[in-house]
Amino acid sequence: MSSPTPTKKLLPGAVIVDEGSTKQTETGSWRSLKPVIDYKKCTSCMLCWLYCPEPAIGCEKPPKIDYMYCKGCGICANVCPIKAITMIQEGQK
Ligand code: SF4
Ligand code: SF4
Repeated sequence: MSSPTPTKKLLPGAVIVDEGSTKQTETGSWRSLKPVIDYKKCTSCMLCWLYCPEPAIGCEKPPKIDYMYCKGCGICANVCPIKAITMIQEGQK
C-alpha cells in the first residue's frame, strides 16, 4: 500500500481585503473598444448599469459612461435590449 501524497499548503489568492477597492483601479487604460450610447434610442432601462462589472456607469438616468473606469468589455452593449450602445475603436471618436 502506498503512502498518501503529502498535502501542500496553498496561499489564498485573488483576495479582496478592502471593500470598494475597484474605485482605486482606473481600468480605462485597458480599453481597445469604447462603448458609446445613442441617447436618441436609450430608454433609461438601466440594464447597462446593472451588468457593468466596473464602476463605469453611473445610476443616474439616462446613464453616463465614466471612461476612467470603462475597460471596454462590451457587456453593456450586449445586454442593451434596444442596441443603443455601439462599441467603437478607441480613439475613433
Ligand atoms: S464596456 Fe464594460 S466596463 Fe465599459 S461601460 Fe460597458 S460594461 Fe462597463
Ligand atoms: S441598457 Fe441600453 S436602453 Fe437601457 S439604459 Fe443602458 S443604454 Fe439605455
